[in-house]
Amino acid sequence: MRRRKGESDPKARGSAAAQGALGARIAGGARIALGISACLLGQEVRYDGGHKLDRYLRDTLGRFVTWVPVCPEAECGLGIPREAMHLAGTPAHPRLVTVKTGVDHTARMLAWIQKRLDRLAQEDLCGFVFKTRSPSSGMRGITVYKNGQPAGTTQGLFAGAFMRRFPLLPVEDEGRLNDPGLRESFIEKVFVFRRWKDYLAEGGTAAGLVRFHTMHKLLIMAHDPQAVSALGRIVAGAPRRERTAASRGLAAARDAYFTGLMAALSREATARKNVNVLQHIMGYFKKSLNAEEKVELLQVIREYHQAQVPLIVPVVLLRHYVRRFRDPYLTQQVYLEPHPVELALRNHV
Ligand code: SF4
Repeated sequence: MRRRKGESDPKARGSAAAQGALGARIAGGARIALGISACLLGQEVRYDGGHKLDRYLRDTLGRFVTWVPVCPEAECGLGIPREAMHLAGTPAHPRLVTVKTGVDHTARMLAWIQKRLDRLAQEDLCGFVFKTRSPSSGMRGITVYKNGQPAGTTQGLFAGAFMRRFPLLPVEDEGRLNDPGLRESFIEKVFVFRRWKDYLAEGGTAAGLVRFHTMHKLLIMAHDPQAVSALGRIVAGAPRRERTAASRGLAAARDAYFTGLMAALSREATARKNVNVLQHIMGYFKKSLNAEEKVELLQVIREYHQAQVPLIVPVVLLRHYVRRFRDPYLTQQVYLEPHPVELALRNHV
């Protein structure tokens, strides 16, 4: 397939064999495509001809996703190497300007952004990882200069336009992904996004919405307990008699549900909220476990609450009981395995 002029090298999307097999199984056969600032994959596209390879993203997360690399500055034709740029003007109306010679590349960049976003809309993305501190790719806190002095902060031109165009897509920058909690939260949302796309691809029916909500209930509870019932009311109110998934009432319910779901998942899943979920799950086994097993489970949950063991410890024990007692509701709960265990996202205290 011919590459579009200036588009990042698709070979950097990584080995299909390495990325596809396990990720495909987890995502029910569909790929998980994530956009990424190309320099984070090791592409030598920075202003100085260098890169900013992030080995975790390329080598670890890269086993489960298909990267779609984007370098706004190289792809819009500014060349490699090129003069360093910064944002100038005001935070509300930032302009992309070269630092030493003051050449204004804003019009060229904005024209390219519109076309690139149209193409990215066809990529079936489930999220994007941006490079920090870039006037083009940074998603927050980019300094805007006026008369050589800092005049506030804003988003990089491309990152800002991307987030306005795709407001529900999970986005994060590589700096924040070094925080284990933020990393888990981002990747969890990416997998939720993929499952939502799968649900829509299967018809987006009212019955499917009930199933989707049911399997995510405990995951939602870990982030925002009140949202479980609020989202449940949207599901219950979704029209059931309409025959097609394209019907307006159902489409509105789906939109309201997914917007509310992503907002709920953006709230922090604290240890206290996770303990609440773990105890809730334990309640399903209270008649099945013997006294010794109950004591052990309570002890493990307590140790997690006191930050002596990671979340994965009580979750593994509960998964064991879910398998043993075959509770149909718990068996389908995404909370028990929201992302590949190989990513070890719940192994930190
Ligand atoms: S930060 Fe963005 S614009 Fe800069 S080199 Fe990386 S991908 Fe390109």
